[in-house]
Parts: sequence; structure tokens; C-alpha cells
Amino acid sequence: MQKIQNYINGQLVSSASGEYLENVEPATGKIYSLIPESNSDDLDAAVAAAEAIQNDWAHTSLEKRADILCRLADLIDSNADALAKAEAIDNGKAISFAKAVDIYRSSANIRFFAQAGTQFSSESHAMGNLAINYTLRDPIGIVGCISPWNFPLYLFTWKIAPALASGNVVIAKPSEVTPMTAYLFSKLCIEAGLPAGVLNILHGSGQSIGGPLTTHPKIKAISFTGGSATGAHISKVTAGMFKKLSLELGGKNPTLVFADCDFEETVNEVVKAAFSNQGQICLCGSRIYIERPIYEQFKTAFIAKVKSLRIGDPLDPNTQHGATVSEAHLNKVLSYIELAQQEGGTILTGGKRHIESGRCQNGYFVEPTVVEGLDNQCRTNQEEIFGPVCSIMPFDKEQEAIQLANGTEYGLAASIWTNDLKRAHRVAKSIEAGIVWINCWLLRDLRTPFGGVKSSGVGREGGLEAMRFFTEPKNVCIKY
Ligand code: NAD
Repeated sequence: MQKIQNYINGQLVSSASGEYLENVEPATGKIYSLIPESNSDDLDAAVAAAEAIQNDWAHTSLEKRADILCRLADLIDSNADALAKAEAIDNGKAISFAKAVDIYRSSANIRFFAQAGTQFSSESHAMGNLAINYTLRDPIGIVGCISPWNFPLYLFTWKIAPALASGNVVIAKPSEVTPMTAYLFSKLCIEAGLPAGVLNILHGSGQSIGGPLTTHPKIKAISFTGGSATGAHISKVTAGMFKKLSLELGGKNPTLVFADCDFEETVNEVVKAAFSNQGQICLCGSRIYIERPIYEQFKTAFIAKVKSLRIGDPLDPNTQHGATVSEAHLNKVLSYIELAQQEGGTILTGGKRHIESGRCQNGYFVEPTVVEGLDNQCRTNQEEIFGPVCSIMPFDKEQEAIQLANGTEYGLAASIWTNDLKRAHRVAKSIEAGIVWINCWLLRDLRTPFGGVKSSGVGREGGLEAMRFFTEPKNVCIKY
């Protein structure tokens, strides 16, 4: 059985405890590798390695840091097929999606922040003839990056790239549910010549290594992406330690379809927004509000499109809808489908576990599921399911649509589908979310601020926001 290893001080090593967690392939339900269950001893070794190189890396020239990071991005590209396959096996996502989205974005993240590091500058504030202020932006030192399972390498690189480009040394923890591509990435770091200790990757559970990582006194900033409950826990346990925190959390995102939208394009894109990556994207639009005059017509076209999604083996290049990530998650999603019916919802399509034949007969597949007839306040419409389940509801007035959209504790993303320019701007401004798409979904420019409001998080990633998060500003005032 393949044993995944930690990456500490430039070496691939076993965990100090010698304990392992089992890693399951979601499409087959079979254990196929073992994950080191790291603990505070591994963390201490990683912190010591990071501390030893901290000054060197902070003073390495911007160009040299960018060169190393670009080499790493090139290595991701040249290993894209193997990485996409590893992601499909580890996560259950369709291999074509893994290659086009996950792996493509992983190298793009690194290349983007390699360049951002060379372009980043700080402010100065002149006080007439009296004085001038300039702001230094130094790296923070040792920072922690914790990522989830839905976009394993994509979100892992999205954090570590700006941290490294701005001169920090990093201790990173990928999700124990999907550790494989972070492990393969650690091998690419060695090949790219990343100096030992600059990045350390510790595998294991949230309890065993995530907890110690967030509370370690030498780790001065934590960039976390994951569930809102975990984010709240991290806020609580780090309170009083004065760490910088960036928390990218859950979502329950609204999709607002107005009667004047481009009908066909909207149907196609709203299906993608609801079901891409088996609905396991924090940005997925799982509450779909449709203006009443087109409700029935939209519903018919939407259901037909959802039914046409090809479910199957993630390794089949024609598969569009793969497995959900784990047995626990499969059961969670199925329990919400059950709940939706108890709450008075009607299943229009889907609603069951999907059983494949052959290699994937024990896989954790769920049919893409559409529910109708639910109240906005019910749990199905309020809680994050994070699976292939969406709810459709009619609305009559623009103001009502805005209220429905804003009527949850979350505030990550929204999409608005209309050809009325004034309404598009008006609604976008009224929506409580960090990201609003108009007539598109998941169109990403890496320079833009990314993050949520309300229970969807604190802080922003992306572009300069990330470079600012990973640096400490110091104002220097000089009198003339
Ligand atoms: P999770 O919160 O269970 O785990 C995320 C990471 O935190 C994992 O690496 C996990 O091991 C670690 N962790 C768990 N407990 C910890 C603890 N006590 N201390 C420190 N670390 C701990 O989330 P998940 O199930 O992996 O991911 C799904 C969630 O992530 C969904 O809610 C989804 O919306 C959210 N998400 C948000 C974004 C975003 O950008 N806002 C992006 C992707 C996913």
C-alpha cells in the first residue's frame, strides 16, 4: 500500500508517531493509500526547519523567488495528466474537470503570485513640506495554510503561492480526505529547487495536526479555507493570540433568474453553477430563484439538462458527474435529500444514490437532485449541503428576490441572470455577498478580491489582498 509522506526541511519523511490514516478512493470505496497522522512533534520539526531558513527566504531577491515559483508552475503543467488522474482518484471528481479546472488553476495560481511578488509595492503619504511617510511591507515570518478537500491542489496552491511569493516560510496542511496531490506537489518542490524548510507540508487530521498548527505560538498568521464551524473554532482557539486570520468559509449561494435573461445560456450555466464538481464548490448556486413568468418553462429545460449529465467513473474522460468525496459525505448529502422531502419538498429529478456497475459499483455517487416546493426558511434552504442538490423557487418582484437571496446566514457568492442593465447593477449592490456574477458564474480574474461576508468568512484572498494579508505593514514617518 502506498504511504504518503510529510515534507519537512526539504525531505519526504514519515510522521513522528508512525501512525497512519486510511485514504479511500471515493469512486470505488476502496482504501488505496495511507496518510501520515502528524502531530505536534512533526509540527515542531517543521517550525524548526522554517525558522532556520526564514531570514534567507525573506531576503532572497524577488526575481529569484519568482524564478523558483515559475519552475514549480511549469512542473505542474508538465505533470498535468498525472496530477489530474491523482486528483480524480483521490477526490472522485471527473478527470476532464480535474485537468481543465483543478490542475490548470494550480499552476496558474503559482505563476500569478510569482509575478505578483515582483510587482507588489507599498504606499507613501506625503505631508506637504513637513514630512513623508512610507510603508514597509515585510513578510510575517512563519505562516500556516490549511485547505479543504473539494479543490485539493487548486486551493492548496492558492494559499501557499502568495505566502511564499511575499517572502514567508510556510507550514501547510492539506485535507486528510484528499492528500495525494499535495504529496505529489512536495516532490515537485524538491525538483524545482525550493530551498529546504521554505515550505513544509504536514498531513493528518484536523484534530491531530490542524489544531496544533493554528495555536502554535511561532505561527503568526493562519490562512484557512473550509467549513464555517471549523472557521468559528479556529477563531475561538486563537482568540487572544493576536494572529492574523483569513477565513474562507461555507456558502449557500443564490442564483437569481429574471424573465428577461438569455434563456438557453442561462439554463446551461445555472446547471453548471449547481452541479459542477458534484455540487462540492463553495460557490455553487444551490438556491435557484426564478421569476414566475418563466418558472415552468425554465423548470422543464433545467430538469432536462440536469438529467443529461453523464454520471460515471471519474477516470472516464466522458464523465461529467463523478463521486462525492467520502462515505460520510455521501450519507450527509442523502440525509439532506431525505430532509427536503420531510420538509415538504418534491424531488423533480435525482434523489437517490447512484449505483455504477463494474469497478465503481461501491462508489459514493449521488444523482444530481432538484427539489421544488420548499420554503426559504427550511433547513434544506438554509444549511450548506455541499453536494449535488439544489432547490428551485419562484418569485414575483425584484425586491422579493433580493430578500430571499439575502435570507441565510451565509454571504459568499451570487449570480444574477438578466438583460436589464440597471437591474443588474441594482441587485448586485443589494446582495449580501463577497462575489456577485452577472450573466456568468465562476468566471475568475485572479486579481480580484475573493471571500465572503456573514458566516462565509473574514478577509479576502486574491491579488493584492493576498499579498497584503501575508505582509505586515510598518509606517515610517520622516520629517524634512
Ligand atoms: P473542514 O472545515 O472540515 O476542513 C478544512 C480543513 O481544516 C481540513 O484540512 C481539515 O483537516 C482542517 N481542520 C479540521 N478541523 C480543524 C481544526 N480543529 N483546526 C484546524 N484545522 C482543522 O472543511 P471541508 O469539509 O474540508 O471542506 C468543505 C467546506 O469548505 C465547505 O463548507 C465549503 O463551503 C468550504 N469551502 C470554502 C471555500 C471558500 O473559498 N470560501 C472554498 C472551498 C471550500
